Amino acid sequence: MTMQQAVTILDGFVRERTSALVATANAEMVMLAQQDQELLSILNNAELTLADGAGVVWAARKLGGGVPERVAGYDLTQQLLQHAAKTGYKIYWLGAAPGVAEAAAAKAAEQFPGLATVGVHDGFFDCDDGSIRRLIRDSQADILLCALGVPKQEKWLNQYRHELQVPVMIGVGGTFDVMAGKAKRAPVWMQRAGLEWSYRLLRQPSRFIRMLALPRFVGRVLLSAWTSR
Ligand code: UDP
Repeated sequence: MTMQQAVTILDGFVRERTSALVATANAEMVMLAQQDQELLSILNNAELTLADGAGVVWAARKLGGGVPERVAGYDLTQQLLQHAAKTGYKIYWLGAAPGVAEAAAAKAAEQFPGLATVGVHDGFFDCDDGSIRRLIRDSQADILLCALGVPKQEKWLNQYRHELQVPVMIGVGGTFDVMAGKAKRAPVWMQRAGLEWSYRLLRQPSRFIRMLALPRFVGRVLLSAWTSR
């Protein structure tokens, strides 16, 4: 779906007080899910799994499904925050290194006047610690932005979704780092050319092993397209 459709659907989840898990899947995540059954099941059963990445958009087109556009987690977060500032939806920020979520929330408050932040917590906590879940539940947030990285954020949200009682829970990866100015996104021309992955690799060479999944992804898609002819 388009970005606008995604925001409309998420708005509906908040109004209906659904407990919706939202994932934005890029090629790396799709390949990880080939080896990780739990992640695969989460992506297949999430209320919304969006195409985050030029690779996934290309694959969907190649395989005949087709998606109208890329809906990246970072961009979706910005659109949702803008929408939340207008509607009064309450945001909880969970994740990233200590201080980063606060900085991201402060940036958002400047950018989207009226935005209601009801809680902030860093992402380095004991996952079994129920006190964080209680804090989130008691905050009565409408939208939980969860930046614990893939697949930790999806698994944690899925495991505790009923306890958290938040209508929209979304895994946003490195979004807080970018908002807080700790990390940079690729220039728009690179995003448009489908080259965001190469920019991330240049800035973070430690991602090299993870990114070996990308040529394998292309190979799997081409093979699927060929065998289904
Ligand atoms: N992170 C976290 N808790 C953890 C592990 C990671 O809060 O236990 C944060 C990390 O600080 C970073 C984000 O999760 O802000 C992951 O960012 P990355 O760009 O690697 O996202 P991904 O590519 O996994 O979506």
